[in-house]
Amino acid sequence: MSGRVGDVSESVGEVSESVGEAGVYPLGLKLAGRRVLVVGGGAVATRRVPALLTAGAVVEIVSPELTPALRGQVDAGRASWSARRFEPADVDGAWLVHVAIDDPAAAAQVSTAAEERRVFCVRADDRDAATAWTPAVTRHGQVTVAVTDGGDRRRAMAVRDLVAHALEISPPAAPEHQGVALVGAGPGDPELITVKGRRLLAAADVVVADRLVPGLLLGELRPEVEFVDAAKIPYGPAAAQGEINRILVERALEGKFVVRLKGGDPFVFGRGGEEAIACAEAGVPVLVVPGVTSSIAAPALAGIPVTHRGVAHEFTVVSGHLPPGHPDSLVDWAALARLRGTLVVLMGLKNLGKITERLIAEGRPSETPAVVVQEGSTSHQRSLRSTLGEVTAAVAESGVRPPAVVVIGDVVTVGVQNVVNAAV
Ligand code: SAH
Repeated sequence: MSGRVGDVSESVGEVSESVGEAGVYPLGLKLAGRRVLVVGGGAVATRRVPALLTAGAVVEIVSPELTPALRGQVDAGRASWSARRFEPADVDGAWLVHVAIDDPAAAAQVSTAAEERRVFCVRADDRDAATAWTPAVTRHGQVTVAVTDGGDRRRAMAVRDLVAHALEISPPAAPEHQGVALVGAGPGDPELITVKGRRLLAAADVVVADRLVPGLLLGELRPEVEFVDAAKIPYGPAAAQGEINRILVERALEGKFVVRLKGGDPFVFGRGGEEAIACAEAGVPVLVVPGVTSSIAAPALAGIPVTHRGVAHEFTVVSGHLPPGHPDSLVDWAALARLRGTLVVLMGLKNLGKITERLIAEGRPSETPAVVVQEGSTSHQRSLRSTLGEVTAAVAESGVRPPAVVVIGDVVTVGVQNVVNAAV
């Protein structure tokens, strides 16, 4: 800088330098029912179109070719497609244009047509030539954060990620939720909760958790959050469930947002259904957030796919908490013995002897491969491979303890176990 005040060429330079962000006016567009033209059908268009569709835009794609993903959107009737090159008249009637092609001359032609018709034009290939930019975006419930960057897309994404992380672990400034959320916490690894579950957990005023919920998730709770350990409620299991229901309803009716955190998926042997009904009967709104169930995840993490082409076309998840023949049992063990597919038994260690005996007696071969996976997805995970005929003795000998799933079927010998989790 020469420092000479009034130097025309220099002040012009300063103006153009500052144009970056200051020259951009941030705006949220309501695109529902409005035509948006997308020129191009490759990878960039594939990434852009879903957000436009989510916003309700009427998406029209002009491109000689489409990626399979875009073709899928077109086939499903969610977007329309003209299989040819762009013509200026395509812009007529559009509220917004997205240019997602590599050829600069062709892209410039779209820009010109858009400019002439006063339609904003996003250019994936040239942000300076664009009249509108797409920001890096993260959405959390009602909150949308959009970051632009003045030229540095990577930095915008890094800032976006920081904000996204902060939103995930911090409560919203204003109460956003009410009622009870039944949230699946996953099988044990705190990273196996869903994004939605984690966000709701951060917003909770009251958390009611089970024994099998990952402790690390609870470590993130704000100190003022009321924590109820459902495993410590006295009076025995039946009365305890009534007490849990009562706590959920009572706190929610006080206006608090209650997260009922349950191991695995809330509706897989978790009595989540009873809790949902109790809340509904009391007029408390219920939100269900499904979770990663141990019945699939524990085998998976031990390298066992519950289905495998040519091996098993079905998997059945049963509770073994009642032995076969018990008057309250609802499980048809004879029917299960006739299946060829995969059988996953939860809560089955105590009755494993009776279960395996019955399955063999009803016709499932005793040499059918079986595996027991204890504390899947945690640092204590261990698995024990055996057969239907020998697994009970093997469990007793090895000291495998609950929580554990027992997987019975030929998938146990599918050679995946040395392949999965190699990247962790
Ligand atoms: N709702 C849970 C299941 C609750 S029943 C889910 O979807 O996973 C409790 C049983 O789940 C335990 O007895 C055990 O059989 C199984 N289980 C839960 N977590 C497990 C884990 N990390 N590893 C193996 N089995 C698990």
